[in-house]
Amino acid sequence: MLTAKVMLLGDMGVGKTSIMYRLVYNRFEGQYKTTLGVELLSYDVSPASADGEPMRLVLWDTDGDFGTQIFDTVYVTGASAAIVVSDVTRPQTVTRMIELIHGFETRFPGRPYRALVNKIDLPEAAGSTARIGELPRSNVKFVSAKTSSGIAESFAELAETIRRRRL
Ligand code: GDP
Repeated sequence: MLTAKVMLLGDMGVGKTSIMYRLVYNRFEGQYKTTLGVELLSYDVSPASADGEPMRLVLWDTDGDFGTQIFDTVYVTGASAAIVVSDVTRPQTVTRMIELIHGFETRFPGRPYRALVNKIDLPEAAGSTARIGELPRSNVKFVSAKTSSGIAESFAELAETIRRRRL
């Protein structure tokens, strides 16, 4: 089976762990202990066509306190792709998401990523996201780990890109 390492990046509290648990266990628990260091979960994506090959994404959920210095650590070694998350209610997490994407592109030129703007279920979600326009539109997804909106689709798309490019 094809296996790809996918980094989950983003500030503390943006919902990285929630997104991973929604994807893998289809659960939203509301409260997770702060991720210390790194947590790994694997997620098998079924093939896009009948004769296609299944694929395993190994998700690396890291402590948000690294910031862009994560790219200087061994955690990112061998990453095929990244899911970079922000919280739609907190503009500074969008700024951080953009910094992390630039860091990822510098460290891994040409590798795919998706920018997930999370918590769109919250009423205060409107506005505050002007900087998202700096990213290519096809890489940006508005999602909610709470309602599960957009989550599975984002990972399926990313898996398809990884498969196509044989990363
Ligand atoms: P992490 O630090 O990035 O791993 O963030 P967590 O997954 O621990 O989530 C931080 C907080 O945001 C928790 O209280 C979650 O319940 C909450 N949260 C995560 N995703 C969502 C979402 O889509 N909607 C809402 N309303 N809350 C969320």
